Amino acid sequence: VDEGPVKSWHKSVCRYCGTGCGVMLGMNKDKLVRVRGDQEAHNKGVICIKGSMLDKVMKSPERLKVPKIKKNGKLVESTWEEAMELMTKKFKESLEKSGPTSIGFYGSGQLLIEESYTANKLFKAGFKSNNVDGNPRLCMASAAVGYTQTFGKDEPPGAYEDIDHAETFFLIGSNAYECHPPLWERIMLRKKANPNVKIIVVDPRKTKTADHADVYVPVLPGKDMLLLNSMCCVIAELGLLDEEFISKYVSFNDGKKGISIEEYKNFLKDYRPEKVADELGITPRQIREVAYQFASSKATMSLWTMGINQRVQGVFLNNTLNSLHLITGQICKPGATPLSLTGQSNACGGVRDTGSLAHLLPNGRLIAKEQHRNEMEELWKVPKGTIAPKPGRHALAMFDGMVTGDVETALIMCSNPAQSLPNNRYYREGMEKAFLVVAEIFEDTETAKFADILLPAALYIEKEGVYGQTERRYQIIDKLREPVGQARSDFDILVDFANRMGQGNLITYKTPTECWDEYRIISKSSKYDFSGITRERLRKERGIQWPCPTEDHPGTVRRYIKGDPFADKHIDANHKVHFYGKPDGKAVVFARPYVPGKEDVSKEKPLFLTTGRVVSQWHTGTMTYRVPELHRSAGPGRFVFHPSDAGPHGLKKGDRIEVESSRGKMEGIVDISRDHETPGVVFAAFYDQKFLVNNVVSDDHDPISKEPDYKVTAISVKKL
Ligand code: SF4
Repeated sequence: VDEGPVKSWHKSVCRYCGTGCGVMLGMNKDKLVRVRGDQEAHNKGVICIKGSMLDKVMKSPERLKVPKIKKNGKLVESTWEEAMELMTKKFKESLEKSGPTSIGFYGSGQLLIEESYTANKLFKAGFKSNNVDGNPRLCMASAAVGYTQTFGKDEPPGAYEDIDHAETFFLIGSNAYECHPPLWERIMLRKKANPNVKIIVVDPRKTKTADHADVYVPVLPGKDMLLLNSMCCVIAELGLLDEEFISKYVSFNDGKKGISIEEYKNFLKDYRPEKVADELGITPRQIREVAYQFASSKATMSLWTMGINQRVQGVFLNNTLNSLHLITGQICKPGATPLSLTGQSNACGGVRDTGSLAHLLPNGRLIAKEQHRNEMEELWKVPKGTIAPKPGRHALAMFDGMVTGDVETALIMCSNPAQSLPNNRYYREGMEKAFLVVAEIFEDTETAKFADILLPAALYIEKEGVYGQTERRYQIIDKLREPVGQARSDFDILVDFANRMGQGNLITYKTPTECWDEYRIISKSSKYDFSGITRERLRKERGIQWPCPTEDHPGTVRRYIKGDPFADKHIDANHKVHFYGKPDGKAVVFARPYVPGKEDVSKEKPLFLTTGRVVSQWHTGTMTYRVPELHRSAGPGRFVFHPSDAGPHGLKKGDRIEVESSRGKMEGIVDISRDHETPGVVFAAFYDQKFLVNNVVSDDHDPISKEPDYKVTAISVKKL
């Protein structure tokens, strides 16, 4: 439908992935009629196919417009008053009968910062419940813990700008070509302008990213800890360690205590290429080649995402990637940095930075630390001892608690766990049992089906707030039209809920702007300090990277070096780097062993299932699967085989199969790709709600980050 010409253009941010592309939105009165990339933003006008069709999601006729309450198993229309009163009654009942641990909040890396901050404050300081978690637990908890353990602070030392200076790109577990296209284009531009640039891609799947690699390393699923340790070993044995950097800025640790560099080198001896290459499925020469290139390049940049984070050894993998940079001095200089690419638009700013996970408090504080709890109690003006000392339930534990009956009542916002959780059938049992309030934009999502109260939520430019993406960059999304029907922003719902629950003295702000100002001032007492990032600046500038302690500070591109306000006073002629997250100013290289996961192939289960995304769909497809062009581009969900696996199983494209894992069985259709799959690995994306692949994905998870392993599930296949 042609909705007429553009009457006005507005600066905004794409609401999908963690690339955080700046977009220009063309409005005709209250209608979004055009979308284009913002030339002045960090993405320099480049956006992907999903972002270019943001307007089509806004036009969907299927939006949920009125609140609904489940009566006799069916959702029926209600007033807001009825819905909010029932929600209040149910939460009060649980709190009175079973206490704070019986309620929970499950949020999202797509909620605005003000929304996550409010939910976190309300539950932890208002209801004394630390059961606050969300879908970022499923996608980047391992990266967050990895940074925190290595540098003492979460969030990356470097930035996208490093792409323009790197000489070697080390992509591991990242299909940036499909999942972060504008960043991939930036890498390609760098390579085109500088023929010396080398791209190394490590991935069990031969992704479209791997097609463009100078060196493609097809390690077997679940084994890449061996590769990273082996690279460290080669670097040490070839004398490629940056001794000066190490002596000034690095300490070593075995996970329990500090160790010497000699002890670290001894640890690495178990990972000599000849010892591990067979298990990795590659040659010792490939390991040496990659290690040499990594260490000897003028500037090496590592980029990774779910292939590393969603793993039972996700934290160790992140630690060791950071270590590779530290032992080679490939860090804290232009083009040399580890940079975890985030999945969701606001997982960094909204959830990690606000501390909206079960073990966190705002700006890097930990619930388990009394000093941190006391600091937040003072800042939030609640009595000492208000915040419970025990971390709450992480994502899987929260839904497990619903299965066991320990979590009785929960609020879910902007997330679709009934489709995205691994071992899905099990956790859906919990959703069936608990009393769920779900705020959603559509009525037919998998999670909405379990709602006892379904609240119509505002979408994208129907509300305002701040997003913080991968590189510590905060950007604002302005409200450009009213919500459809009776929909309300998640922020409004939370403030209303707080008042009804008698928490009006805690949640004193009434608007996202007032909330931002409170949060911005709170950040001042931390090393995240973004108190200089005012609403006014966000509206004028194209995003600002924290730390940014004053209104005239330009923001910080690279941390821990001159220009970072917290490092500056430690920098002199002899010290160019200061890792201020650690008391001694030194980042930690951890000796992290490879520990095999439980999921491995066998005679009974001879193939690996690995899940991921495709370029034209966003996560569970709630929004993008409704856009006809994107729907056609992706096609239905399916299992994709390499011909060498399809053949022996007698499979051809379009066949129906039954896939069985340790978590259960499901049916699906077969696709075959010679170019983009590898023998032994079956790929499936998770965007199609008629193809719930997470039913068979294992929920084994990293013991530290609690992030599930979506990448390595052993399966058997039967033709139907
Ligand atoms: Fe950019 Fe990601 Fe949006 Fe695509 S989906 S336009 S890469 S932010």
